[in-house]
Amino acid sequence: MTAPKLDCSNIVEFIADIFERRGAESYLGEPVSMSEHMLQGAVLAETDGAPEELVAAALLHDIGHYTSEFGPMSLGDERDNYHEESGAKVLAPFFPPVITECVRLHVPAKRYLCATDKGYYDRLSEASKHTLLLQGGPMNADEVRDFEANPFHREAVRVRIWDDEGKRPGVETPAFRHYVPLLQRVVEGQAKAI
Ligand code: FE
Repeated sequence: MTAPKLDCSNIVEFIADIFERRGAESYLGEPVSMSEHMLQGAVLAETDGAPEELVAAALLHDIGHYTSEFGPMSLGDERDNYHEESGAKVLAPFFPPVITECVRLHVPAKRYLCATDKGYYDRLSEASKHTLLLQGGPMNADEVRDFEANPFHREAVRVRIWDDEGKRPGVETPAFRHYVPLLQRVVEGQAKAI
């Protein structure tokens, strides 16, 4: 199936359709499905009183696992390894930079927290500890400095922590549809800003 021509009027519906068709897929060795994981992240963000952009970022941070749905605009889409980069890339035409940067940085944020927060590594899931090795392990001092130079690094750390916490089996969340109006507001806000 080829992707339709996407714009700010149909991108949210396009993403909702992906979630509804594929959200039940497993999440890399975690005890929750992809959609349970992403929806739990969004609920945690809301519970923390985060702004709508960060709720959207928490909800969409793993969209890179589905970038094959977006057609030839995404590169490297069969590989999970760089799902943060490909996810940011498919969102970039429609969503504000704070969201695309949180998506792009959610893996580096794990490496950052492992380098800067002593208890963080121990709180990671086994699957996340395993992928940390493939992702380069904890950041070194130069990488920490570069990460902190990103204007959205604090937001990216918040999204990362919701990502880590959103892996609990059996937690009730709203359906993806609940977030469609929020996502549409964020997309329209960005369309007006450019
Ligand atoms: Fe995740």
